[in-house]
Amino acid sequence: MLALRRVGSRRYDPRMNCPVGQDVKRAAAIIRDGGVVAFATETVYGLGAHAMNPQAVARVFEVKGRPRFDPLIVHVNDTEAAKRLTATFPKTAERLADAFWPGPLTLVLPKVEEVPDLVTAGLSTVAVRVPIHPLARQLIEQAGVPIAAPSANPFGQVSPTTAKHVQQQLGDRIDYLLDGGPCDVGLESTVLHVAEDPPTLLRPGGVTLEDLERVVGPIRSLESTEIDDNHPQTSPGMLSRHYAPRTPLRMVEDLTTCDVPRKAGLLTLNHPPAPERFAAIEVLSRTRDLREAAATFYAAIRSLDTQKLELILATPFPDKGLGRALNDRLRRAAK
Ligand code: AMP
Ligand code: MG
Repeated sequence: MLALRRVGSRRYDPRMNCPVGQDVKRAAAIIRDGGVVAFATETVYGLGAHAMNPQAVARVFEVKGRPRFDPLIVHVNDTEAAKRLTATFPKTAERLADAFWPGPLTLVLPKVEEVPDLVTAGLSTVAVRVPIHPLARQLIEQAGVPIAAPSANPFGQVSPTTAKHVQQQLGDRIDYLLDGGPCDVGLESTVLHVAEDPPTLLRPGGVTLEDLERVVGPIRSLESTEIDDNHPQTSPGMLSRHYAPRTPLRMVEDLTTCDVPRKAGLLTLNHPPAPERFAAIEVLSRTRDLREAAATFYAAIRSLDTQKLELILATPFPDKGLGRALNDRLRRAAK
């Protein structure tokens, strides 16, 4: 008799696992028929459905336990397809698309009427992205429809960067899992509101602020007063607690002076002082390479989360490049 493990607020049943593989044709047919497919992208694994079919999109919210006020990103294969979903596509958007698509950048623009309200949580804007992962691209191509997809994890929990992560968390609730190996970037896309100038950064992610500003000049950051939980309309997904392991996680600036409980884990960029104080350590990059750190970040949090620790301590990353997105995820995981 197989044991049932708890996943979020429900029970995960490993006997109900979905089919897993690289059968793009099968996955595409499921999407067209209104089913739900988890698939690899370069950022994290997505939980995809036919974006123009509200019933299919409703299943994504249901499977994830995602609140309906949190809109989904719509994935398409090129700028032309993105333009079909948007009412305007200003010059700035054009320049960003030329520079960063396909890739981990999501643009928020006024939507056309045909995009279902459920996808955009009733907002007049839609978030669009062109992924670069070859399997994601084949899936979109063969489905022949835009694919709405949030990350393939129960709402609020750690994002999946391998097919196994998805299987463990949602394997019994989806119709197919398109396994494209571990995600290259390992962090969610950067979300940028580009309806007005200057563009506003809604979520730091896989494309750095520095790279964006090189292409379009200064970018506005959301004021902290605009992104608290009382202003869900500004960037609905930016709830303060998110991306969180079950073990409490605390950020510490200085490892030499902080108190370390008996069963503490450590998540850190490079090798720490006095490592013997920790029951488990995840070093993300011995060469302090933020790309490498991002690619292993969520897997490292998951690994620490399985070790029955009292607390996970995490040191902040340098506040530049991908370090901004990593710090953002740490802060939310720590709430
Ligand atoms: P996820 O699918 O979990 O990667 O999250 C997508 C995030 O993109 C949402 O949680 C929002 O923060 C943001 N987003 C998506 N659509 C919009 C929109 N129309 N306006 C503002 N932010 C959006
Ligand atoms: Mg997510």
